[in-house]
Amino acid sequence: MTDIAYRLAQQRSIVTALPGPRSAVLAHRRGQAVAAGVGSAVPVYAADADGGVIVDVDGNSFIDLGSGIAVTTVGAANPEVAAAVAEQARRFTHTCFMVTPYEGYIEVAEQLAALTPGAHDKRTVLFNSGAEAVENAVKVARLATGKTAVVAFDHAYHGRTNLTMALTAKSMPYKARFGPFAPEVYRMPTSYPYRDRLTGELAARRAIDQIDKQIGAESLAAIIIEPIQGEGGFITPAPGFLPALADWATQHGVVFIADEVQTGFARTGAWFASEHEQIEPDIIVMAKGIAGGMPLAAITGRAELLDAVHPGGLGGTYGGNPVSCAAALATLHTMHDLDLPARARAIEHAIKPRLQESADRTGVIGDVRGRGAMLAIEIVHPGTTDPDPDLTTWIAAEALARGVVLLTCGTHSNVIRLLPPLVISDDLLDEAITVLDDVLHAAAGRR
Ligand SMILES: *Cc1c(COP(=O)(O)O)cnc(C)c1O
Repeated sequence: MTDIAYRLAQQRSIVTALPGPRSAVLAHRRGQAVAAGVGSAVPVYAADADGGVIVDVDGNSFIDLGSGIAVTTVGAANPEVAAAVAEQARRFTHTCFMVTPYEGYIEVAEQLAALTPGAHDKRTVLFNSGAEAVENAVKVARLATGKTAVVAFDHAYHGRTNLTMALTAKSMPYKARFGPFAPEVYRMPTSYPYRDRLTGELAARRAIDQIDKQIGAESLAAIIIEPIQGEGGFITPAPGFLPALADWATQHGVVFIADEVQTGFARTGAWFASEHEQIEPDIIVMAKGIAGGMPLAAITGRAELLDAVHPGGLGGTYGGNPVSCAAALATLHTMHDLDLPARARAIEHAIKPRLQESADRTGVIGDVRGRGAMLAIEIVHPGTTDPDPDLTTWIAAEALARGVVLLTCGTHSNVIRLLPPLVISDDLLDEAITVLDDVLHAAAGRR
């Protein structure tokens, strides 16, 4: 990556014990002021971030393999995004699109229509968070079909609001004791090739049989699925699974919703992960990578579905905030300009063989999977497929101690996921993977 100018030195440098003294002070203040229910993956506090690094308040510089959960795809301080944000904030920060509308919202909607899969007529609504957008995709599907049931899948993650908790699979920490949950949500088995050994076709047949028996298409408004399941463990379905579900939905008047909140915007080596299997979702849900770190989310879908809703039925005070829209336009421009889908494919080609090599040599990795710059390793007890969440936690902590921010995920909390900013330099990425390989060898020594 040579066509981007970095403000911060792109280096890994640990200069204090971790957490350092300033982070320790902030941790103490946080304990007195911030609710205990809000977790953080690492115990260090950010002061600065740019390109492929995060610098903490004690001057430690970490290589970022998390992108704030797949958000800062164009970097956490992308100059074009920062300039667009400053310029829009100088003009106006808010008028509310439902009161005094503005061009930026329309421009984002036009660009999303052009960018999302399918040549059909599309309409867009903008929101603030992924969960809010998912809720609204379901609202639209129910109103447009006049049906109520919604199918979600094992290992799914769709958010933390009441309806999206119902759609999310994992109880701890997302759902436990937060119920009752929204009704008319049904969970079906997914395709998880490492564990179910099923072809995509058979896995789809299994899900569709259950849908037929337990719900019936005549009651089913929508199927919602992540094309690669994110928080659930970067589970990449067997080829054919997603197209079979989408075809069945189309044939039976069921709205097929792709939750591309984590997979969208160049992350997987295409603009959207649906493209890898030539799927054209009826509604696509977007957030995370859309606006270079500014809060924005969207649903884009078939005009006849979105326009079925009465005027005033969709919206929100902040949805499509003008500063966020300006950030999104700058982000999309940067993604086109630097051809970030191609960059994600190059990252996959550079990293995946090295992860496979770590797997072959250490024995603690059961599966290497994912697409583009959305890659993961599933940590298991050697010689088995039994999840090893303790070792996974140890690997992430040890990587941090060596200057690499790594995120975990998975229903069994045994997956290390790699989500580097796509503007990270080749050298820095290479160094991070070398650190990870060293840590994996050390991990194997503990088993
Ligand atoms: C993060 C995520 C969400 C929720 O987005 P928020 O902005 O945190 O509400 C929904 N779906 C998927 C697939 C996600 O990864």
